[in-house]
Amino acid sequence: MTSFESLRTHLRGELITPESSEYDAARRLWNGMVDKRPAGIARCSGVVDVVACVRYAAEHNVLLAIRGGGHNVAGLAMCDDGLVVDLSRMKGAHVDPRSRTIRAQGGMCWGDFDRETHLFGLATTGGAVSTTGIAGLTLGGGVGWLNGRCGFVCDNVRSFEVVTADGRVRVASADEHPDLYWALRGGGGNFGVVTSFEFQLYPISTVIGGLLVHPLERGRDVLRFYRDYVASAPDELTVYAAALTTPDGLEALALVPCYCGEDLEEGARLLEPLRRFGPPIADLVVPMPYVVMQQMLDAACPYGIHSYWKSNFMRDLTDDGIDTFVEFARGRTSPRTIAVIEHYHGQALRVPPDATAFALRTESFDLVILTQWEGGDAEPHIQWARKFWTAMKPSSAGTVYVNALSADEESRLREAYGANYERLAEVKAKYDPSNMFRVNHNIRPLAAAI
Ligand SMILES: Cc1cc2nc3c(=O)[nH]c(=O)nc-3n(C[C@H](O)[C@H](O)[C@H](O)COP(=O)(O)OP(=O)(O)OC[C@H]3O[C@@H](n4cnc5c(N)ncnc54)[C@H](O)[C@@H]3O)c2cc1C
Repeated sequence: MTSFESLRTHLRGELITPESSEYDAARRLWNGMVDKRPAGIARCSGVVDVVACVRYAAEHNVLLAIRGGGHNVAGLAMCDDGLVVDLSRMKGAHVDPRSRTIRAQGGMCWGDFDRETHLFGLATTGGAVSTTGIAGLTLGGGVGWLNGRCGFVCDNVRSFEVVTADGRVRVASADEHPDLYWALRGGGGNFGVVTSFEFQLYPISTVIGGLLVHPLERGRDVLRFYRDYVASAPDELTVYAAALTTPDGLEALALVPCYCGEDLEEGARLLEPLRRFGPPIADLVVPMPYVVMQQMLDAACPYGIHSYWKSNFMRDLTDDGIDTFVEFARGRTSPRTIAVIEHYHGQALRVPPDATAFALRTESFDLVILTQWEGGDAEPHIQWARKFWTAMKPSSAGTVYVNALSADEESRLREAYGANYERLAEVKAKYDPSNMFRVNHNIRPLAAAI
């Protein structure tokens, strides 16, 4: 067991060890199933602390994990025995309304981030739950309501400040370390600790969004209508579909639209057929501040819930696929469980698959089986999710969003990084040849390039 003696002298933030009273709270992650016990958690106060941790880990050969928002379902923000670089105290941000950019520190969550940009009537694509970290989400690619208009989250990063395995602070952008800049946009936490991000912002303040709730027995018809409706949706309109249980216990198929265009009257007109179909038993779609849309789903995914995910992109949403989806949705093992179909289109799919490390730019629908339960025996929930996912395989595109992989899915990494895997392994060999950053969906350094 390491004593961290020399590290303590270099840290301004706290070092939490198993003896500390806040140890158990500090190692808690969003997924309550994860129970890892690091030897130390460094609550970094700034870039100097991050550099101290990386140098200490290199010198003492200590396993290093990085905690952003702690939301990763696979529990990759913690490790057993090693040192956790915890960025949760690094939430500084500066918006420049003239250049429509923000510089945001790596410990921010989307709720912190959206709050700062909204003040200036600006926004960019971000995660749909406000407690998710900006860092892990962005580094894996990042999807959200604004995909169609603004692209995926990583498409809007203009530069990264990153502490690499040699303990140096680098800026990665189109002009500086372009290979690292490419890899950080989809390659996950493999290349260093990102201490801040510079994002492009857009004039988006009010959106039209909310839920259209249908009974799950009508799910088959609703999903067929949904598939045809989104096929002609403009870039400004994104709609997800989700099988869930409402707070009053109704098994439902909810459609969740978000219109982010400037012309709200046009948005209302576009949404009319979606709101008319059925009709829904509840229509909660209204104009709202984008920050409100971004918190709307928070209560459905509380911190500490137990969770296991299965996911893949779909080739198409076929009639058979819809039937299977509805059948399994009716057999959910927990009322907390949500099965989601996300629609990707517009700007997100216009970026060439090799322009950033995020390669998955052709598939329009993503299936995310988000099993959630309060605790106790995990097996029935996990088995149900696996059976559901296997039954949906005929629709699968054979690809998966890296941030949706569960802890037991390391064998699916090539499905996630796609054709960009080899190039990622080369960049890894250049910036992290000893694979210091390996508590992640790990890209091994390409041996030939070391
Ligand atoms: C309720 C919920 C809702 C979600 N909604 C969305 C969504 O709308 N869109 C979407 O795209 N994804 C979504 N996700 C998935 C999300 O992208 C991942 O869980 C992501 O890992 C979360 O980022 P984090 O910073 O909270 O991760 P953490 O758990 O803190 O870290 C995860 C991984 O990211 C790496 N990492 C974190 N911070 C850094 C850093 N500063 N530098 C380098 N590496 C770092 C670490 O290596 C770690 O392996 C959601 C997840 C949950 C649980």
